[in-house]
Amino acid sequence: MTANGGTHGAIVIGAGVAGLTAAAELAERGIATALVDDGFLGGLITNVGKLEGVEGEAESGPDLVNTLLERALVAGADYRMGAVTALQQDGALWHLPEQEAAGPAIIFATGAALKQLGVPGETELAGRGVSQCAFCDGGLYRDKDVLVVGGGDAAFQEALHLAEHCASVTVAIRGPAPRARVDFVERIRAHSNVHVRTGIDVRAIIGTEGVDAIRLHDQASGSEKDHPIAAVFPFIGLTPQTALAPPEAKRNADGALTVGATMQTTLPGLYAIGAARADHGGAIADAVADAVAAAQAIAS
Ligand SMILES: Cc1cc2nc3c(=O)[nH]c(=O)nc-3n(C[C@H](O)[C@H](O)[C@H](O)COP(=O)(O)OP(=O)(O)OC[C@H]3O[C@@H](n4cnc5c(N)ncnc54)[C@H](O)[C@@H]3O)c2cc1C
Repeated sequence: MTANGGTHGAIVIGAGVAGLTAAAELAERGIATALVDDGFLGGLITNVGKLEGVEGEAESGPDLVNTLLERALVAGADYRMGAVTALQQDGALWHLPEQEAAGPAIIFATGAALKQLGVPGETELAGRGVSQCAFCDGGLYRDKDVLVVGGGDAAFQEALHLAEHCASVTVAIRGPAPRARVDFVERIRAHSNVHVRTGIDVRAIIGTEGVDAIRLHDQASGSEKDHPIAAVFPFIGLTPQTALAPPEAKRNADGALTVGATMQTTLPGLYAIGAARADHGGAIADAVADAVAAAQAIAS
C-alpha cells in the first residue's frame, strides 16, 4: 500500500514503445509503477525488421523493445502480463480489479491496431497471402508480384522492404497522392520494380488456397479489373485502442483520447500517450516524448 492508499503511484496499461518508456521514466523517478500488457509486448514495432528514424543502437523493433523492457525492469517497474478489461474509479484512485492494482495516475499506452480493408477475401485469406507484416512474410513471395495498400509511412516502409525480395511491388493508394514522408517517396522512386498507383480502391481479394488476384477499381476511368498477384499487404491506417477508457473521457473522431500538454486526458489522473492519444505524431520519437511528458507531470 502506498501513501495515497493505492498499490502503486502510477499504472501504465500497454507495453509498446510509449508504455515501456513511461514505466522506465516513472520508476527512475522513484514512483512505484505497474506496467500491464496483454502479451503483445512491443506493440506495433514488434514485427519491424529495420527501424527508420531511431537514434541509438537498436536496428530492429525487437532490439528496441528488449532495450526498453530491460530499462523499465532495471528501474524497478512491476511488469504484469494480462489484458486489462476492467477499469474503475473510486475517488482519486483508479483501480484495475483483475490485476488487484490501484493508483492515483493511470496511463493509457494501449496504442492502436492496424485497420483492415473490409473487402471480400481478406479474412478468408489472412495468413495465406494477406499479411500485415512485410518483414515476417516478404521472403515467402520472393520473385513474385505483390501489392501494398496505403499511402502513408507504414505502407511505404513495408513496400521498400518488399522491393528487395519481390519481382514487382504495386502500391495502391486511394487518394490522389502519397502521404508518406518525402524521403520514403523518393526512395520508392529509386526502385524500378515498384509502381505507385493513385486513385485506386481495392474491391476484393481473390483466391482459394492462397491469393491469386486483387480486384481494383480505378477512380479515373471507373473500370474494375482483376490483377494477378501472390500477396497483398494492407497498411491503411490505425484504430486507437481506447475502448477501456471511461466514455466521459473526450476523444477525437477516430476514438483517440484528447490530451493536454502533460498528456492528461479530460479526466483527472487519466493520461494517454503514443498511438492511443489524439494528434500522436506517428513516430517512435513522438511516443517517447509523450511518455517523458506524462512521467514528468505525474512525478511533479
Ligand atoms: C508497420 C509499421 C512500421 C513502423 N515503423 C516505424 C519506424 O521504423 N520508425 C518509427 O519511428 N515509427 C514506426 N512506426 C510507428 C510506431 O510503431 C508507433 O508510433 C509506436 O510504436 C506507437 O507505440 P505505442 O506504444 O503508442 O503503441 P503500440 O505499439 O500499439 O503498443 C500498445 C501496447 O498496448 C497493448 N495493449 C493494448 N490494449 C491493452 C489492454 N487492454 N491491456 C493490456 N495491454 C494492452 C498492446 O498489446 C501493445 O503491446 C511504425 C508503425 C507501423 C504500423
